[in-house]
Amino acid sequence: MDEPLHIYNHPATNPQSFETSILGISNIDGKYWIELEESYYYPAGGGQPADLGTLELSECSIPIIDVRKKETIIHEIMGDFTPDNLVGKQVVAHFDTERRNQLARMHTAQHLVSAVADELFSGTTIGNQIGTEKTRIDLGIIDREAFDKEALVDAVNSIIESKLIVSMDFQQRSELISNPLVRVNLDLLPKAIEELRVITIDGVDICPCAGSHVANTSEIGSIEIGRVKSKGAGKLRVEYSIVE
Ligand SMILES: [Zn+2]
Repeated sequence: MDEPLHIYNHPATNPQSFETSILGISNIDGKYWIELEESYYYPAGGGQPADLGTLELSECSIPIIDVRKKETIIHEIMGDFTPDNLVGKQVVAHFDTERRNQLARMHTAQHLVSAVADELFSGTTIGNQIGTEKTRIDLGIIDREAFDKEALVDAVNSIIESKLIVSMDFQQRSELISNPLVRVNLDLLPKAIEELRVITIDGVDICPCAGSHVANTSEIGSIEIGRVKSKGAGKLRVEYSIVE
């Protein structure tokens, strides 16, 4: 199965378990990776780590410890099993829901931090790494003196408290190009993709994104910015966490 089905689900919180079967298993550098008939797990990418979970079989359950998108979506498994016996088995696939929910909160907060940094300091997000405890965003800011940590935190938390709806749909690239709320450079996305999965935070941000997000900014909780450090001329790395 090469299509990541998680993209059709929004909000991404509290994902439902799903039934599927094991198509194949491969040993890559001593690790076992399985391919499922269908998968709703998020494969690591775009700065967001993979979903984790458990495959429940009639005779045992197998932890999923990583998910990657290669030619197909593959799931690293660990534990005590006989690989040859797994192919064709029916499974119920469960999520580590707490992890997914936290990543959805952190990821939605990343859209807000990036949008506010753009509004306040013309900061361009040039990279990010989302985590369950801490998330970091690398900003390109020509005038680093303009960066104001307190103003950034206050503006983001104020948007969160405004309880804005976070929605998902699929839009044509050509429709997005002229919208000022689209802050990413669409030219950086593969040209062959005309229809994009788009996350809209009402009135604040529109962003093509395949990641996991909450339904309303009020689900995020407040953010707190920790370290801000220089990553060279015109670049700052900003770390934030979520406080309840
Ligand atoms: Zn996103």
